[in-house]
Amino acid sequence: MNIALIAHDKKKDMMVNFVTAYENILKKHNLFSTGTTGKRIMEATSLKVHRFQSGPLGGDQQIGAEIAKNRMDIVIFLRDPLTAQSHEPDIQALIRLCDVYMVPVATNIGTAEILVKALERGDLQWRTLVERK
Ligand code: PGA
Repeated sequence: MNIALIAHDKKKDMMVNFVTAYENILKKHNLFSTGTTGKRIMEATSLKVHRFQSGPLGGDQQIGAEIAKNRMDIVIFLRDPLTAQSHEPDIQALIRLCDVYMVPVATNIGTAEILVKALERGDLQWRTLVERK
């Protein structure tokens, strides 16, 4: 499975804790992230992450482009709803594309935990049947 991991600045510590806790599950999959989130993940764990641009510099749009090709199976996007983001349109576009392509998306840690447990159980295997473009 291809998994996108993105965290806004105030949620990056939470993302590091999350990927550390679930490293054994996540290491079996292909991980992608925006620039700074990926850097933080790789510094804290032995996970290999394909890093796109930093979010404000287009990273969310790059991940959105992967979603539009049906190449992203899960998106975990720990958003900060209390801080204005310079690239808010990109964030909205990414989440919209998740809905267009029926990609399971978590925007907070509560749902992220449920998704990673579903992943471990094999509940998301149907994603392997979608046609990649
Ligand atoms: P970052 O981008 O991982 O490069 O900080 C995340 C975002 O703000 O969308």
